[in-house]
Amino acid sequence: MVMGDIFREIAKTNTSLGKKIKKVIEAGALFDDKMTLMILTSKIRKLKKMDKIIIDGFPRDVGQARAFDKYVSDSLGNKILFIHIRLPRANILDRLAKRRVCVNCNFITRVKKTNKNNRCPKCGGQMMVRYDENKKAIKARLDVYSLQSRLLRQYFRKRVLEVDGNQTISKVSRDLINGIKKYFLKRT
Ligand SMILES: [Zn+2]
Repeated sequence: MVMGDIFREIAKTNTSLGKKIKKVIEAGALFDDKMTLMILTSKIRKLKKMDKIIIDGFPRDVGQARAFDKYVSDSLGNKILFIHIRLPRANILDRLAKRRVCVNCNFITRVKKTNKNNRCPKCGGQMMVRYDENKKAIKARLDVYSLQSRLLRQYFRKRVLEVDGNQTISKVSRDLINGIKKYFLKRT
């Protein structure tokens, strides 16, 4: 479950919650803990029969982690594994600088894959660099992120899986799968 996708999905519905979420997205603000937890737990309740789920983009801070931890152990009795994919800051900035986004359909690609006219391979729209426009904002967000993720790792302690993100995609996924298997095998 990707949190951003869930929010965008609900924002499209013509409900009071959908309208509320739409407003937050349009303002570029972050969702408060209460709203995030409410949406997440209602999604999980529907998924109850599934063995395992991966949540992307949550928790963002220790407050959310505590509240979610309590919800999970109270109602589902499941185990949580916090996954941290390590990537050097310079590497993240480099990846962002090479990223191009289509203004028309939001298709995302790397610089080398776009054609010389800078047109979207999917719809022919203009491909834009988002990074250059908000270098400062992105760096500030990375600062917040690295602090929050450090505090989260301290909170989850032995329930943390760290994977080196500076490898090929297949090596990263192999490390993830092995780490997850090992962790849950020990606990069943
Ligand atoms: Zn496009």
